[in-house]
Amino acid sequence: MKSLIVANWKCNPAALKEAKTLFNSVEKGIKNIRNAEMVICPPFVYLSELKRMKNKRSKIKLGGQDVFWENAGAYTGEVSPEMLKDSGAEYVIVGHSERRKYQKETDEAINKKLKAALSVGLKAILCVDNVSQIKKDLNGLTGNLLLNLVIAYEPIFAIGTGKACSVERAEKMRMSIKEKLNKKNIPVLYGGSVNSQNAAGYLEKGGFQGLLIGGASLKIEEFSGIIRRVDR
Ligand code: PEP
Repeated sequence: MKSLIVANWKCNPAALKEAKTLFNSVEKGIKNIRNAEMVICPPFVYLSELKRMKNKRSKIKLGGQDVFWENAGAYTGEVSPEMLKDSGAEYVIVGHSERRKYQKETDEAINKKLKAALSVGLKAILCVDNVSQIKKDLNGLTGNLLLNLVIAYEPIFAIGTGKACSVERAEKMRMSIKEKLNKKNIPVLYGGSVNSQNAAGYLEKGGFQGLLIGGASLKIEEFSGIIRRVDR
């Protein structure tokens, strides 16, 4: 099975021109990849333009970094699941720790977002820092909806800090997550200070099915190094 490599650009880069340059560099850098599926999650405002730029044979898929739970209405500032899809997104990150912290997102809100995103056919990447979040975030989600779910284990201490979780500790968490999911076939990714030196270990020793990459996905040399190492 192909590894899933998800780039979370967060609130970067500062302008569309830079976003296009970065996207083109990634596109060139991954031309020959065979064993990885590549997803880029830029800020909402760049999605449509990147969708337009993508050539038909592009191996890059697009994703959102968040989504609202209603499809339309008087919800100022929100972006709906249908809008995301229309802008070219096939994936969406839900429940990122930065949103839980700065936007005070609750498990209840995350649960509604997941249901809404999965219901319109988006693939949802649920970020968790601990196993207890899983039960609350997945409350009421059953059957076919789970087919498009991905979990990302993202220990808060490792996000954007340069202090990655050890592979051993991450693997233990991956197994606890699998246990919580009743061993359902839901892919589990690792995220948190991944770089070209540590990336392969999470897949090869830790048993993760992919990576969620923040900071390093904005540095093309580093990101290409990660792709080269995991695409073996
Ligand atoms: C993230 O934002 O999901 C993330 C993993 O960030 P970083 O790679 O910078 O730790």
